[in-house]
Amino acid sequence: MTYIEPAPITDKENPLASMMQRFDKAVQLLGISEEMYHILKVPRKQVIVGLPVTMDNGEIRTFEGYRVIHSTILGPSKGGIRFDPAVNLDEVRALAAWMTWKCAVVDIPYGGAKGGIACNPRQMSAGEIERLMRAYTTAMLDVFGPDQDIPAPDMGTGPREMAWLMDEYSKAKGMTVQAVVTGKPLVLGGSLGRTEATGRGVMVTALAGMEKLRLNPYKATAAVQGFGNVGSHAASLLRERGVCIQAISDISGAYYNQGGIDIEAAIAYRDRNNGMLEGFQGAEMIAPEELFSLPVDVLVPAAKEDVITHHNVANIQAKMIVEGANGPTSFRADDIINEKGIMVVPDILANAGGVTVSYFEWVQNRIGYKWTLERINRRTDRIMKDSFNKVYQTAQQYQVPLRIAAYIVAIDKVASTYKYRGGY
Ligand code: NAD
Repeated sequence: MTYIEPAPITDKENPLASMMQRFDKAVQLLGISEEMYHILKVPRKQVIVGLPVTMDNGEIRTFEGYRVIHSTILGPSKGGIRFDPAVNLDEVRALAAWMTWKCAVVDIPYGGAKGGIACNPRQMSAGEIERLMRAYTTAMLDVFGPDQDIPAPDMGTGPREMAWLMDEYSKAKGMTVQAVVTGKPLVLGGSLGRTEATGRGVMVTALAGMEKLRLNPYKATAAVQGFGNVGSHAASLLRERGVCIQAISDISGAYYNQGGIDIEAAIAYRDRNNGMLEGFQGAEMIAPEELFSLPVDVLVPAAKEDVITHHNVANIQAKMIVEGANGPTSFRADDIINEKGIMVVPDILANAGGVTVSYFEWVQNRIGYKWTLERINRRTDRIMKDSFNKVYQTAQQYQVPLRIAAYIVAIDKVASTYKYRGGY
């Protein structure tokens, strides 16, 4: 079975390059020295492993796995493990840095990391995936650890894979070590509230932004791209707080109802329909691209990267964009967005609710006590609201958009911590 690289889309911007351009801008504004720039940019550790795995047909296939620890200045590193044919060291390196800034912006005591294995889980049996995950865990025994580096799910992995990781790591240590990984099934020490945490953070930061723009949620309208974990929870929680969700979309198309979509009905329909909105009757279908040009107050891209670009940004009428997805807005769209006066709550802030509840999972595992959902939600809301306020104040202080302000908050925190800790 050979994997064929898809043809490159030449007009596409690379979200990771977009991240670096914004990082560079924030570094300049902060007046960071050349030497500190390199300390912040160069990852601490990059591990590449070869993983021979017996496939169901008896053949042995060797996969390549990666783990990049970008920073441990603020604490143990944290970041997901991605199973995807396109995974490579460059991508993992950039995503690890992204995690450093995300954890720093919400002020949780973690550095950033990311891992990945170049494989296609859709073409592998559960047994093959399990053996691969266990082989990867064994190869990373010296890297992972509750006080060193704490993985989590990412694209192509979920609670099932995290359970195998925890089990393999625990066997090697001769005791159950729940805190080595987050995103576990609830019975294995997973946290209540994790599933909806990212959507919840999107809701909290959206409401905080609306307050600044003096938008009354009970009179506001929104459109949400993507109706998976992040998009559907964000839509449902915004609806609960009064916002009229006029449009939603998924891979099957976009759905519009001027009077507001019944989000709970849409979720129930999707869950009965193989996870897709296709055929949903509570709205009329519109062209997917039209969702971005609707005259709504709030636009929530919560599907994939690079969907708001210099090609379509001129059509956006929303007053606010809240980035549920990672990297949905390309660097080249930033200037036009700013000229139009649209407030953007950037991804490293808006979707950090997920990593915040992952942190709570780790804390609960370490103290050996389970918090109630009410406590988790209250603490998540406080962290997200405080982080929004910090970023908002920084934006005013430096006279920059929230996106650059978020990078300033994060970079300043990591750089000043490094100065206290010192090097060699
Ligand atoms: P998901 O797989 O649960 O859902 C993705 C949704 O997007 C699906 O409804 C899919 O049909 C839809 N989609 C895909 N391509 C589309 C397109 N071209 N147009 C419209 N819809 C499309 O994924 P998720 O966990 O909700 O993640 C969404 C985004 O949020 C990703 O960028 C992810 O990296 C980011 N994110 C997720 C979390 C988390 O906790 N799940 C945390 C931080 C960031």
